[in-house]
Amino acid sequence: MAYEPKNYDHLKGGAVKGLSDSQLDQHFTLYKGYVAKLNEIETKLAEVDNTKPNYSFNEYSELKRREAVAFNGSFLHELYFENLGADAELSPELQAAFDAQGGKDKVLADLKSCALGGPGWALLTRNRRDGKLHTYFVAEHHLGLPIDQDLLIVLDSWEHAFMVDYGIKRPDYIGAFMENIKWSEVSKRFALAAK
Ligand code: FE
Repeated sequence: MAYEPKNYDHLKGGAVKGLSDSQLDQHFTLYKGYVAKLNEIETKLAEVDNTKPNYSFNEYSELKRREAVAFNGSFLHELYFENLGADAELSPELQAAFDAQGGKDKVLADLKSCALGGPGWALLTRNRRDGKLHTYFVAEHHLGLPIDQDLLIVLDSWEHAFMVDYGIKRPDYIGAFMENIKWSEVSKRFALAAK
């Protein structure tokens, strides 16, 4: 099945304070590249000879090694774009989960610190093992993403996410991101996770 990249143009025109159209357009282009590669890898995997896998080199083995890069690269970006666009609709259930862990400000301060260790992804998740909110830092799309997590906030802290608008000022970008979280979307993800 071919994946279709989604259109996030509604985020442009000042809808996300602190991210210019040029910055967003370049990021959309990069995201579409991941989706195209995911489709390419899946197409090739459907046809390639899988009977001679090899650690050093084999086409099938290489495709398998990179499949999760394109998959997570595609869908981490969708989760990122979809949790952009500030609103104040934080659900009482998610608020209670924050309160149980020292409050929203404390948890978000930790997420911010995660992101400042970039480049990579900073994640706020609901961990299915203990039912609590966790922050994680994932330096590569396919490496170090803990299992059994529902992803609530996905923060792209790779340079391409902010260089156009902020140069090397990652803290300023992270600050702008924090002001632009779409809490209705995060609350929806939490409600699905906590079911
Ligand atoms: Fe990105």
